[in-house]
Amino acid sequence: QEIPTIQITDVKHYVNQTVRIGVWLRQKRGSGKIAFLQLRDGTAFFQGVVVKSDVSEETFEIAKSLKQETSMYVTGEIHEDTRSDFGYEMAISGIEIVGESHDYPITPKEHGVDFLMDHRHLYLRHLKPFATLKIRNELIRATYEFFNKEGFTKLDSPILTGSAPEGTTELFETDYFGESAYLSQTGQLYAEAGAMAFGKVFTFGPTFRAEKSKTRRHLTEFWMIEPEMAFTTQEESLEVQERYISYLIESVLKNNEQELDILGRDKEVLRSYTQLPYPRLSYDDAIQLLQDNGFDVEWGVDFGSPEETFLAEHFSKPVFIVNFPKEIKAFYMKRHPTRDDVVISADLLAPEGYGEIIGGSERDTDYEYLKTRIEEQGLDLAEYQWYLDLRQYGTVPHSGFGLGLERMITFVTGEEHIREAIPFPRMISRIRP
Ligand code: ATP
Ligand code: MG
Ligand code: MG
Ligand code: MG
Repeated sequence: QEIPTIQITDVKHYVNQTVRIGVWLRQKRGSGKIAFLQLRDGTAFFQGVVVKSDVSEETFEIAKSLKQETSMYVTGEIHEDTRSDFGYEMAISGIEIVGESHDYPITPKEHGVDFLMDHRHLYLRHLKPFATLKIRNELIRATYEFFNKEGFTKLDSPILTGSAPEGTTELFETDYFGESAYLSQTGQLYAEAGAMAFGKVFTFGPTFRAEKSKTRRHLTEFWMIEPEMAFTTQEESLEVQERYISYLIESVLKNNEQELDILGRDKEVLRSYTQLPYPRLSYDDAIQLLQDNGFDVEWGVDFGSPEETFLAEHFSKPVFIVNFPKEIKAFYMKRHPTRDDVVISADLLAPEGYGEIIGGSERDTDYEYLKTRIEEQGLDLAEYQWYLDLRQYGTVPHSGFGLGLERMITFVTGEEHIREAIPFPRMISRIRP
């Protein structure tokens, strides 16, 4: 009978059977009589055991000489192993080396952050990046599922753009056949055009911002999910947002238990964030609350990390801050019906110091008002004519928001720094590997 070649995640179906698995060696320990091989195959991690008295002399010699990250096929019987977290191990009877490895740089000793980031192409193989990026994958999967269930159409916005949606200070400029083009900072304006055509749309793609300051929360290349909904008010949009966040957390709790354990993330704390609704606090009240608690902030400022951390911690769950000052928000945000100084906007702040994960608003529908706002902000009106067209041909109330995927990942995984949330981070001082 032929020996099946399987993946580690499937070993539970092969207890007491002999299988073959393509693996890499993570670590090895043992004595003169037994070798314990820590193995991974990209689906999971488990242990193989080579017992000298049970295998040929040659196989035991190979086992003893294996180096970290050697790739091979191991053959052996699967046994239940209640002592390990994984629950199974392999009694190895044969080893076929595929690719040798010598002097692998990431040894079991502690390495500094810069070293690990310089070796990111290899570090991806290790436990923590593996767990974090598996959760990234789940958040992306659950995002498509959520928006498809809710009747959205995915409509991609361009990456190369001819104009700057929200001003020019953080733009990456590039040459486009002799003209200036910019890497997209947001797909928002295109998503609005999409909503007028498809009702409910979401974009999902990379966005670029030349963030000049170094923080734990800013990348220069990050991925954003931007839903936009026609015939939708701000309050209806907030309800979609909280349902979405709750759905993402539930999906990870359901499908990534192993990864959350690897990262040491408290599942009960995460579960508490699935309880809706999230509190809504006006910007005015937020300023008051901050001042009452000793923060030196005045009405009109945007929040920094300490203020965002305090506000969400105050409620021990994600919190919406609504109706920000007009002057610190983008030109397209809808005027407040009774006040001239604020716009119908909302930021969703995550607890535990993870900061702003969503920014959104209702969009203004008035052609003349938007034209004035574009001019007031010193933007080139000609570049926005196509956008203003949307207000000329059957404008409707509409709202949308942008979720930063990597912010959401740090929040769900409990990672301290956003560089961990993307396979190859781009930051002010890092563009390699
Ligand atoms: P912040 O205030 O944290 O700088 P922002 O208000 O400039 O964020 P928005 O323009 O509202 O960001 O973008 C929508 C979302 O994109 C944010 O809520 C956040 O989740 C994410 N985001 C923004 N900038 C970055 C960045 N540089 N790196 C990673 N994610 C980001
Ligand atoms: Mg910013
Ligand atoms: Mg902000
Ligand atoms: Mg924002």
